[in-house]
Amino acid sequence: MRQQIVAGNWKMNGTIPETENLIKQLLAGDSKNERATVLVCPPFISLQAAAKALEGSHIKLGGQDMSEHEKGAYTGEISASMLLTVGASHVILGHSERRQYHAESDDLVNRKAKAALAAGLTPIICVGESLEQREAGQTEDVVGRQMRGCLNGLGPDDLKKIVVAYEPVWAIGTGKTATPEQAQEVHAFIRDLVKDIDTSAGEDLPILYGGSVKPNNAKELMAQPDIDGSLVGGASLKADDFIAIINAC
Ligand code: PEP
Repeated sequence: MRQQIVAGNWKMNGTIPETENLIKQLLAGDSKNERATVLVCPPFISLQAAAKALEGSHIKLGGQDMSEHEKGAYTGEISASMLLTVGASHVILGHSERRQYHAESDDLVNRKAKAALAAGLTPIICVGESLEQREAGQTEDVVGRQMRGCLNGLGPDDLKKIVVAYEPVWAIGTGKTATPEQAQEVHAFIRDLVKDIDTSAGEDLPILYGGSVKPNNAKELMAQPDIDGSLVGGASLKADDFIAIINAC
């Protein structure tokens, strides 16, 4: 059985007290699911307070991005080891908002993934097509190119330590969700692509779906054979909604 993961991407939302409060609500609620790893990714500034609030709990902590470099003169950047020291186990890489607003390329995501793996962090590598690309029938070309670029040079041992998130750009924060069938089709394509590199790494690869996941669509999406959980944006900011999605897994 593949690892199931439900991860909350809190993006640039919440002050430190708001982060602490949201964690308090998650821990007071029914946020434990024996079948799934639960992860929250608050803004960098809140990570330390979040780690303290999560101490001894079942909820893991992740960063929303990191530098490809170990340390040095990179103003505004955060390194993998900084994330590790604050208690993070995962890091989201190549989110479409990083690609769109910060011009992140597959090459850069690839270098970041290598840096995360070298430090012992689990990268959650995001891929996904735009609406124009989907409508032009280019979904597999685009996702295939992103996957090959982001995974370039990773061997079977590395591939066993990564997580992939399929997030169609047209479904992120728009209220439009891929149908379970549309999502399943791309997830199966991603799995096959990794299986072509290493069969068992592909079989075991957790592939999360992200894009307007809500309590009312989570169950159907996560019931698909190649969907192993979800990366949740907006709905992860409301404790009740996030808990409902965790329990749908
Ligand atoms: C995301 O940003 O990763 C995401 C999936 O956002 P939302 O759930 O709000 O569409």
